[in-house]
Amino acid sequence: MLLFAKTFGCCRFVWNKMLEKKLQAYKKKERITRIIPAKYKEEFPFLKEVDGLALCNVQLQVEKAFRDHFRNRKQFKLPKFKKKKDKQSYTTNNTHDSIRVDFEKSLLYLPKLREGVKVELHRRFDGKIKSVTVSRTNDGKYFASILVETANPRNKVAEPKSRACGIDLGLEHFVTVTDDFGSYKVEHPKYLRRGEERLWRLQRSFSRKQKGSKNSEKARLRLARQHTYISNARNDFLHKLSKAIIDENQVVVVEDINVKGLLKTRLAKSVADSGWSKFLTYLKYKAEWYGRTFIQVNRFFPSSKLCHRCGYKNDDLALHDRTWCCPACSETHDRDVNASINLYYVGLGRPEVKPVERALVDDRSPHGLPKKPSRVEAGSSTEKC
Ligand SMILES: [Zn+2]
Repeated sequence: MLLFAKTFGCCRFVWNKMLEKKLQAYKKKERITRIIPAKYKEEFPFLKEVDGLALCNVQLQVEKAFRDHFRNRKQFKLPKFKKKKDKQSYTTNNTHDSIRVDFEKSLLYLPKLREGVKVELHRRFDGKIKSVTVSRTNDGKYFASILVETANPRNKVAEPKSRACGIDLGLEHFVTVTDDFGSYKVEHPKYLRRGEERLWRLQRSFSRKQKGSKNSEKARLRLARQHTYISNARNDFLHKLSKAIIDENQVVVVEDINVKGLLKTRLAKSVADSGWSKFLTYLKYKAEWYGRTFIQVNRFFPSSKLCHRCGYKNDDLALHDRTWCCPACSETHDRDVNASINLYYVGLGRPEVKPVERALVDDRSPHGLPKKPSRVEAGSSTEKC
Protein backbone atom coordinates (compact mmCIF):
# COMPACT_ATOMS: atom_id res chain seq x y z
CA MET A 1 0.00 0.00 0.00
CA LEU A 2 2.90 2.31 0.75
CA LEU A 3 4.23 1.91 -2.76
CA PHE A 4 0.82 2.70 -4.20
CA ALA A 5 0.49 5.79 -2.03
CA LYS A 6 3.94 6.90 -3.17
CA THR A 7 3.17 6.26 -6.82
CA PHE A 8 -0.14 8.12 -6.63
CA GLY A 9 1.66 10.97 -4.96
CA CYS A 10 4.43 11.10 -7.56
CA CYS A 11 1.98 10.91 -10.45
CA ARG A 12 -0.06 13.69 -8.92
CA PHE A 13 3.11 15.69 -8.39
CA VAL A 14 4.27 15.23 -11.98
CA TRP A 15 0.81 15.95 -13.35
CA ASN A 16 0.56 19.20 -11.40
CA LYS A 17 4.11 20.25 -12.32
CA MET A 18 3.54 19.62 -16.02
CA LEU A 19 0.16 21.23 -15.96
CA GLU A 20 1.53 24.34 -14.30
CA LYS A 21 4.22 24.72 -16.98
CA LYS A 22 1.79 24.13 -19.79
CA LEU A 23 -0.83 26.46 -18.42
CA GLN A 24 1.77 29.21 -18.07
CA ALA A 25 2.77 28.77 -21.70
CA TYR A 26 -0.88 28.62 -22.69
CA LYS A 27 -1.74 31.87 -20.93
CA LYS A 28 1.22 33.64 -22.52
CA LYS A 29 0.03 32.19 -25.85
CA GLU A 30 3.40 30.53 -26.31
CA ARG A 31 3.80 27.19 -27.96
CA ILE A 32 3.28 24.42 -25.44
CA THR A 33 6.49 22.48 -25.31
CA ARG A 34 6.87 18.82 -24.62
CA ILE A 35 7.99 18.06 -21.09
CA ILE A 36 9.28 14.64 -20.14
CA PRO A 37 9.22 13.32 -16.58
CA ALA A 38 12.91 12.44 -16.67
CA LYS A 39 13.57 16.14 -16.41
CA TYR A 40 12.05 16.18 -12.95
CA LYS A 41 13.90 13.14 -11.69
CA GLU A 42 17.15 15.02 -11.16
CA GLU A 43 15.51 17.85 -9.35
CA PHE A 44 13.24 15.60 -7.31
CA PRO A 45 15.07 12.30 -6.66
CA PHE A 46 12.12 10.75 -4.81
CA LEU A 47 10.49 10.26 -8.21
CA LYS A 48 13.08 7.57 -8.93
CA GLU A 49 11.58 5.35 -6.26
CA VAL A 50 8.39 4.68 -8.20
CA ASP A 51 7.51 3.05 -11.49
CA GLY A 52 8.90 5.22 -14.28
CA LEU A 53 6.31 4.06 -16.79
CA ALA A 54 3.58 5.38 -14.57
CA LEU A 55 5.18 8.81 -14.80
CA CYS A 56 5.51 8.52 -18.57
CA ASN A 57 1.83 7.79 -18.75
CA VAL A 58 1.14 10.96 -16.82
CA GLN A 59 2.91 12.85 -19.59
CA LEU A 60 0.70 11.16 -22.18
CA GLN A 61 -2.40 11.91 -20.15
CA VAL A 62 -1.54 15.60 -19.81
CA GLU A 63 -0.88 15.81 -23.54
CA LYS A 64 -4.13 14.07 -24.35
CA ALA A 65 -6.06 16.39 -22.04
CA PHE A 66 -4.72 19.39 -23.92
CA ARG A 67 -5.29 17.79 -27.31
CA ASP A 68 -8.90 17.03 -26.38
CA HIS A 69 -9.35 20.57 -25.20
CA PHE A 70 -8.04 22.10 -28.40
CA ARG A 71 -10.15 19.79 -30.50
CA ASN A 72 -13.40 20.44 -28.66
CA ARG A 73 -13.32 23.27 -26.13
CA LYS A 74 -16.93 22.93 -25.17
CA GLN A 75 -16.80 19.32 -24.22
CA PHE A 76 -13.29 19.23 -22.80
CA LYS A 77 -12.44 21.99 -20.38
CA LEU A 78 -8.82 22.75 -19.58
CA PRO A 79 -7.29 20.05 -17.37
CA LYS A 80 -7.30 20.71 -13.63
CA PHE A 81 -4.78 20.29 -10.88
CA LYS A 82 -5.11 17.05 -8.96
CA LYS A 83 -5.76 17.00 -5.24
CA LYS A 84 -4.90 14.41 -2.67
CA LYS A 85 -8.50 13.83 -1.71
CA ASP A 86 -9.62 13.04 -5.27
CA LYS A 87 -9.73 9.53 -6.62
CA GLN A 88 -6.12 8.43 -7.18
CA SER A 89 -4.80 6.29 -9.96
CA TYR A 90 -1.82 5.41 -12.07
CA THR A 91 -1.34 3.38 -15.20
CA THR A 92 1.66 1.28 -16.05
CA ASN A 93 2.49 -0.81 -19.08
CA ASN A 94 3.65 -4.34 -19.46
CA THR A 95 7.22 -4.65 -20.71
CA HIS A 96 9.00 -8.01 -20.72
CA ASP A 97 6.40 -9.57 -18.43
CA SER A 98 6.82 -6.91 -15.78
CA ILE A 99 3.11 -7.37 -15.11
CA ARG A 100 1.89 -10.86 -14.36
CA VAL A 101 -1.09 -12.50 -12.72
CA ASP A 102 -0.91 -15.70 -10.71
CA PHE A 103 -4.45 -17.06 -10.78
CA GLU A 104 -3.65 -19.89 -8.39
CA LYS A 105 -2.23 -17.70 -5.66
CA SER A 106 -4.36 -14.64 -6.54
CA LEU A 107 -1.32 -12.46 -6.87
CA LEU A 108 -0.72 -9.52 -9.14
CA TYR A 109 2.87 -8.62 -9.96
CA LEU A 110 3.63 -5.05 -10.94
CA PRO A 111 6.82 -3.11 -11.70
CA LYS A 112 8.63 -2.25 -8.46
CA LEU A 113 6.44 -4.79 -6.72
CA ARG A 114 8.33 -8.05 -7.13
CA GLU A 115 6.69 -9.90 -4.29
CA GLY A 116 3.27 -9.26 -5.82
CA VAL A 117 0.10 -8.04 -4.21
CA LYS A 118 -2.84 -10.16 -3.08
CA VAL A 119 -5.88 -9.42 -5.21
CA GLU A 120 -9.41 -10.64 -5.53
CA LEU A 121 -9.65 -11.69 -9.17
CA HIS A 122 -13.07 -11.34 -10.72
CA ARG A 123 -12.46 -13.71 -13.57
CA ARG A 124 -9.84 -15.59 -15.44
CA PHE A 125 -8.59 -14.28 -18.75
CA ASP A 126 -6.27 -15.30 -21.52
CA GLY A 127 -4.22 -13.08 -23.74
CA LYS A 128 -1.44 -10.61 -23.40
CA ILE A 129 -1.58 -8.02 -20.63
CA LYS A 130 -1.12 -4.56 -22.12
CA SER A 131 -1.41 -2.32 -19.10
CA VAL A 132 -2.74 -2.04 -15.59
CA THR A 133 -4.42 0.89 -13.91
CA VAL A 134 -4.26 0.89 -10.14
CA SER A 135 -6.74 3.17 -8.45
CA ARG A 136 -7.95 4.06 -5.01
CA THR A 137 -11.53 5.22 -4.75
CA ASN A 138 -12.35 8.04 -2.39
CA ASP A 139 -13.84 5.54 0.02
CA GLY A 140 -10.41 3.95 0.36
CA LYS A 141 -10.74 0.82 -1.78
CA TYR A 142 -8.01 -0.29 -4.16
CA PHE A 143 -8.71 -1.57 -7.65
CA ALA A 144 -6.54 -2.81 -10.47
CA SER A 145 -8.04 -2.90 -13.91
CA ILE A 146 -6.08 -4.97 -16.35
CA LEU A 147 -6.17 -4.29 -20.08
CA VAL A 148 -5.72 -7.51 -22.03
CA GLU A 149 -5.37 -8.10 -25.73
CA THR A 150 -7.46 -11.06 -26.81
CA ALA A 151 -8.79 -12.31 -30.09
CA ASN A 152 -12.41 -12.40 -29.01
CA PRO A 153 -13.81 -10.52 -26.03
CA ARG A 154 -17.38 -11.67 -26.53
CA ASN A 155 -19.52 -13.92 -24.43
CA LYS A 156 -21.48 -16.71 -25.99
CA VAL A 157 -24.71 -15.75 -27.66
CA ALA A 158 -27.73 -17.93 -28.36
CA GLU A 159 -29.88 -18.03 -31.48
CA PRO A 160 -32.51 -15.31 -31.10
CA LYS A 161 -35.96 -16.57 -30.17
CA SER A 162 -37.75 -13.49 -31.38
CA ARG A 163 -37.44 -11.80 -34.76
CA ALA A 164 -37.65 -8.29 -33.44
CA CYS A 165 -38.50 -6.18 -30.44
CA GLY A 166 -39.55 -2.60 -29.88
CA ILE A 167 -38.43 -0.81 -26.74
CA ASP A 168 -40.23 2.16 -25.29
CA LEU A 169 -38.25 4.09 -22.69
CA GLY A 170 -40.43 5.25 -19.86
CA LEU A 171 -40.31 7.24 -16.71
CA GLU A 172 -42.67 5.16 -14.60
CA HIS A 173 -41.29 1.86 -15.81
CA PHE A 174 -37.75 1.69 -17.05
CA VAL A 175 -38.72 0.15 -20.40
CA THR A 176 -41.70 -1.46 -22.09
CA VAL A 177 -40.75 -4.15 -24.57
CA THR A 178 -42.77 -5.86 -27.28
CA ASP A 179 -41.37 -8.90 -29.06
CA ASP A 180 -42.78 -11.86 -31.01
CA PHE A 181 -44.32 -13.21 -27.83
CA GLY A 182 -46.03 -10.10 -26.50
CA SER A 183 -45.33 -7.12 -24.32
CA TYR A 184 -43.79 -6.76 -20.89
CA LYS A 185 -42.64 -3.96 -18.66
CA VAL A 186 -39.37 -3.80 -16.79
CA GLU A 187 -39.45 -1.76 -13.58
CA HIS A 188 -36.65 0.26 -12.14
CA PRO A 189 -35.10 -2.23 -9.73
CA LYS A 190 -36.26 -1.69 -6.15
CA TYR A 191 -32.75 -1.83 -4.75
CA LEU A 192 -31.80 1.11 -6.97
CA ARG A 193 -34.75 3.17 -5.83
CA ARG A 194 -34.00 2.42 -2.21
CA GLY A 195 -30.32 3.05 -2.79
CA GLU A 196 -31.08 6.46 -4.24
CA GLU A 197 -33.22 7.39 -1.28
CA ARG A 198 -30.37 6.44 1.01
CA LEU A 199 -27.95 8.43 -1.13
CA TRP A 200 -30.14 11.46 -0.75
CA ARG A 201 -30.29 11.07 3.03
CA LEU A 202 -26.52 10.63 3.27
CA GLN A 203 -26.03 13.70 1.11
CA ARG A 204 -28.11 15.77 3.51
CA SER A 205 -26.43 14.36 6.57
CA PHE A 206 -23.02 15.12 5.07
CA SER A 207 -23.88 18.70 4.23
CA ARG A 208 -25.11 19.29 7.78
CA LYS A 209 -21.83 18.20 9.36
CA GLN A 210 -19.21 20.75 10.25
CA LYS A 211 -16.55 20.87 7.55
CA GLY A 212 -13.28 19.27 8.48
CA SER A 213 -14.68 17.52 11.54
CA LYS A 214 -14.28 13.81 12.21
CA ASN A 215 -17.99 13.24 11.76
CA SER A 216 -17.93 15.06 8.47
CA GLU A 217 -15.16 12.74 7.24
CA LYS A 218 -17.17 9.70 8.31
CA ALA A 219 -20.24 11.01 6.53
CA ARG A 220 -18.19 11.68 3.41
CA LEU A 221 -16.95 8.10 3.39
CA ARG A 222 -20.45 6.73 3.78
CA LEU A 223 -21.65 8.94 0.95
CA ALA A 224 -18.79 7.94 -1.33
CA ARG A 225 -19.44 4.27 -0.61
CA GLN A 226 -23.10 4.66 -1.46
CA HIS A 227 -22.23 6.47 -4.71
CA THR A 228 -20.00 3.58 -5.72
CA TYR A 229 -22.66 1.06 -4.79
CA ILE A 230 -25.35 2.82 -6.83
CA SER A 231 -23.23 3.26 -9.90
CA ASN A 232 -22.11 -0.38 -9.82
CA ALA A 233 -25.63 -1.64 -9.23
CA ARG A 234 -27.03 0.48 -12.04
CA ASN A 235 -24.38 -0.61 -14.52
CA ASP A 236 -24.96 -4.21 -13.57
CA PHE A 237 -28.70 -3.87 -14.14
CA LEU A 238 -28.23 -2.11 -17.50
CA HIS A 239 -25.68 -4.66 -18.71
CA LYS A 240 -27.84 -7.64 -17.80
CA LEU A 241 -31.01 -6.19 -19.26
CA SER A 242 -29.36 -5.13 -22.52
CA LYS A 243 -27.63 -8.51 -22.87
CA ALA A 244 -30.92 -10.36 -22.29
CA ILE A 245 -32.68 -8.26 -24.93
CA ILE A 246 -29.86 -8.70 -27.46
CA ASP A 247 -29.82 -12.45 -26.76
CA GLU A 248 -33.53 -12.81 -27.44
CA ASN A 249 -33.99 -10.65 -30.51
CA GLN A 250 -32.54 -10.40 -33.98
CA VAL A 251 -33.66 -6.80 -34.49
CA VAL A 252 -33.90 -4.25 -31.69
CA VAL A 253 -35.76 -1.00 -32.26
CA VAL A 254 -35.67 1.98 -29.91
CA GLU A 255 -36.85 5.54 -30.04
CA ASP A 256 -34.33 8.19 -30.86
CA ILE A 257 -34.72 9.99 -27.59
CA ASN A 258 -32.82 13.18 -27.73
CA VAL A 259 -31.40 12.50 -24.31
CA LYS A 260 -29.25 15.58 -24.22
CA GLY A 261 -32.19 17.76 -25.13
CA LEU A 262 -34.31 16.20 -22.44
CA LEU A 263 -31.59 16.70 -19.87
CA LYS A 264 -31.99 20.43 -20.16
CA THR A 265 -35.63 20.24 -19.14
CA ARG A 266 -37.05 19.39 -15.77
CA LEU A 267 -37.22 15.74 -16.76
CA ALA A 268 -33.47 15.90 -16.29
CA LYS A 269 -33.08 14.11 -13.00
CA SER A 270 -35.29 11.20 -13.74
CA VAL A 271 -33.71 10.76 -17.18
CA ALA A 272 -30.21 10.84 -15.77
CA ASP A 273 -31.19 8.43 -13.02
CA SER A 274 -32.89 6.01 -15.32
CA GLY A 275 -29.67 5.68 -17.30
CA TRP A 276 -31.32 5.64 -20.72
CA SER A 277 -28.40 6.88 -22.68
CA LYS A 278 -26.10 4.30 -21.10
CA PHE A 279 -28.69 1.63 -21.80
CA LEU A 280 -28.86 2.61 -25.49
CA THR A 281 -25.08 2.64 -25.75
CA TYR A 282 -24.90 -0.86 -24.29
CA LEU A 283 -27.63 -2.14 -26.64
CA LYS A 284 -25.85 -0.64 -29.61
CA TYR A 285 -22.44 -2.11 -29.04
CA LYS A 286 -23.78 -5.46 -27.90
CA ALA A 287 -25.88 -5.62 -31.07
CA GLU A 288 -22.73 -5.04 -33.08
CA TRP A 289 -20.80 -7.66 -31.14
CA TYR A 290 -23.42 -10.34 -31.47
CA GLY A 291 -24.51 -9.67 -35.03
CA ARG A 292 -27.90 -8.17 -34.27
CA THR A 293 -29.51 -5.16 -35.88
CA PHE A 294 -29.97 -2.07 -33.77
CA ILE A 295 -32.37 0.55 -35.13
CA GLN A 296 -32.99 3.94 -33.65
CA VAL A 297 -36.08 5.39 -35.31
CA ASN A 298 -36.27 8.96 -36.41
CA ARG A 299 -37.06 11.32 -33.56
CA PHE A 300 -40.18 12.45 -35.41
CA PHE A 301 -41.65 8.99 -35.73
CA PRO A 302 -44.76 9.29 -33.53
CA SER A 303 -44.45 5.92 -31.77
CA SER A 304 -46.74 6.96 -28.90
CA LYS A 305 -49.36 8.69 -31.01
CA LEU A 306 -50.04 6.01 -33.61
CA CYS A 307 -52.75 3.46 -32.92
CA HIS A 308 -50.92 0.18 -33.47
CA ARG A 309 -54.16 -1.47 -34.48
CA CYS A 310 -55.44 0.83 -37.22
CA GLY A 311 -52.70 3.39 -37.70
CA TYR A 312 -54.78 6.39 -36.61
CA LYS A 313 -52.58 9.23 -35.42
CA ASN A 314 -53.73 10.83 -32.18
CA ASP A 315 -52.33 14.34 -32.24
CA ASP A 316 -54.14 15.27 -29.03
CA LEU A 317 -52.16 12.82 -26.93
CA ALA A 318 -50.61 14.67 -24.00
CA LEU A 319 -47.51 13.64 -22.08
CA HIS A 320 -49.51 12.77 -18.96
CA ASP A 321 -52.04 10.55 -20.80
CA ARG A 322 -51.11 7.08 -19.64
CA THR A 323 -53.93 5.37 -21.55
CA TRP A 324 -55.99 6.46 -24.50
CA CYS A 325 -58.84 5.20 -26.60
CA CYS A 326 -58.47 5.22 -30.37
CA PRO A 327 -61.35 7.25 -31.83
CA ALA A 328 -61.10 5.34 -35.11
CA CYS A 329 -61.17 1.72 -33.95
CA SER A 330 -62.10 2.26 -30.27
CA GLU A 331 -59.20 0.17 -29.02
CA THR A 332 -57.92 1.21 -25.59
CA HIS A 333 -54.18 1.61 -25.42
CA ASP A 334 -51.66 1.59 -22.64
CA ARG A 335 -49.43 4.39 -23.83
CA ASP A 336 -46.10 2.59 -23.36
CA VAL A 337 -47.25 -0.78 -24.67
CA ASN A 338 -48.72 0.85 -27.77
CA ALA A 339 -45.47 2.73 -28.44
CA SER A 340 -43.38 -0.40 -28.07
CA ILE A 341 -45.68 -2.29 -30.44
CA ASN A 342 -45.25 0.41 -33.08
CA LEU A 343 -41.49 0.16 -32.67
CA TYR A 344 -41.73 -3.61 -32.93
CA TYR A 345 -43.54 -3.24 -36.27
CA VAL A 346 -40.69 -1.05 -37.48
CA GLY A 347 -38.37 -3.88 -36.54
CA LEU A 348 -40.38 -6.34 -38.60
CA GLY A 349 -39.56 -4.24 -41.63
CA ARG A 350 -42.68 -2.17 -41.65
CA PRO A 351 -41.45 1.35 -41.24
CA GLU A 352 -43.64 4.37 -40.79
CA VAL A 353 -47.13 3.01 -40.31
CA LYS A 354 -49.10 5.39 -42.46
CA PRO A 355 -51.99 7.16 -40.78
CA VAL A 356 -55.21 6.15 -42.49
CA GLU A 357 -58.51 7.89 -43.02
CA ARG A 358 -61.19 7.09 -40.50
CA ALA A 359 -63.53 5.81 -43.16
CA LEU A 360 -61.03 3.17 -44.23
CA VAL A 361 -60.63 1.70 -40.80
CA ASP A 362 -62.01 -1.74 -40.28
CA ASP A 363 -61.73 -4.44 -37.69
CA ARG A 364 -59.02 -6.57 -39.21
CA SER A 365 -55.89 -7.03 -37.27
CA PRO A 366 -53.25 -4.51 -38.23
CA HIS A 367 -50.61 -5.00 -40.86
CA GLY A 368 -51.81 -8.54 -41.55
CA LEU A 369 -50.39 -9.77 -38.25
CA PRO A 370 -52.27 -12.02 -35.93
CA LYS A 371 -53.69 -10.17 -32.99
CA LYS A 372 -51.22 -10.29 -30.19
CA PRO A 373 -52.01 -11.68 -26.81
CA SER A 374 -51.38 -9.04 -24.21
CA ARG A 375 -48.65 -10.24 -21.95
CA VAL A 376 -47.99 -7.43 -19.56
CA GLU A 377 -45.98 -8.53 -16.60
CA ALA A 378 -44.97 -5.84 -14.25
CA GLY A 379 -41.71 -6.09 -12.41
CA SER A 380 -40.18 -8.87 -14.42
CA SER A 381 -36.78 -7.28 -14.35
CA THR A 382 -35.14 -9.81 -12.08
CA GLU A 383 -36.26 -12.77 -14.14
CA LYS A 384 -35.00 -11.08 -17.28
CA CYS A 385 -31.51 -10.78 -15.99
ZN1 LIG B 1 -57.10 2.58 -33.87
